Amino acid sequence: MRYDDSPPSPESASSVSPERRWFTRRSGLAVGAAVLAPTLLAGWVLVQVTTGAGADDARPPRIVMPADSPSSSPTTSPASSPTASPASAAPQAKGPLAGKTVVIDPGHNTGNFQHTSEIDKKVDIGTARKECDTTGTTTNAGYKEAEFTLDVSRRLRTVLEAKGLKVVLTHEADRAWGPCINERARIGNEAAADAVVSVHADGVSEGSRGYHVILPAKVKGGAADTAKIVGPSRDLGERIGSNFARTTGSAPANYLGSGTGLVVRDDLGGLNLSTRPKVFIECGNMRDAKDAALLTSPEWRQKAAQGIADGIVGFLGG
Ligand code: ZN
Repeated sequence: MRYDDSPPSPESASSVSPERRWFTRRSGLAVGAAVLAPTLLAGWVLVQVTTGAGADDARPPRIVMPADSPSSSPTTSPASSPTASPASAAPQAKGPLAGKTVVIDPGHNTGNFQHTSEIDKKVDIGTARKECDTTGTTTNAGYKEAEFTLDVSRRLRTVLEAKGLKVVLTHEADRAWGPCINERARIGNEAAADAVVSVHADGVSEGSRGYHVILPAKVKGGAADTAKIVGPSRDLGERIGSNFARTTGSAPANYLGSGTGLVVRDDLGGLNLSTRPKVFIECGNMRDAKDAALLTSPEWRQKAAQGIADGIVGFLGG
């Protein structure tokens, strides 16, 4: 259950967060779509080059997600949320997917390691106050959770855009740190997202393995009121979990969730403040050698993105 907080590793700070431009996605999109089916390594290398997918961040300790921050606003694209994608690049969705929007939240930010005082500031998550954000964890070799989450999120975006869905990322490491958890929730709310997924990887002890999807508990307090999203979020989460298991071959976490791969939490600002169906997925344990071998594999990350995408598309009726 936790995102644990592994201490920010010093060295990780050095790896720079990539600042990719959202508009490069267009080319990545076309290439990504062509390559998608087989997920060939060669193809993905190409996608990474064109999209800049890949590097970035690690994730903090726990999933704290409060709300946020007054001023963290960073950078980014002119239009609404940071990383909204250019509508013109995507094919038109048909049927139940037409007009649907998905918000993807890459957990943490590689820059958080260098901005601990900022991310430690508390924000209001309705039911409590929590840190703006956390650094995220890393593998024992130093691969940051934030790099992992951004890479998977970009791959996920490519898959969803190929379906004609509008996709918005809460950030692309195109800001120094953050966003704070309340801001991450706000981006999904303001986009009137039909589904929101926050991508993470856990940082617990060796031997703890597998994925789990975190569902919002029913909470009410301050700006938090999840009564309307508990049901649909469970549907979304169950679909993501089962599809993730299918595409990656990973098993549900062996250290929480009683083997279901599902966990309900009431302490995450990113869920408490959401007014849209939303879940978190912890794709694996970065601190376990076997899971780390998967998480650091581009091919595996593609499978992970595909499984999450399939779950979202199924939830949306596509
Ligand atoms: Zn995380």
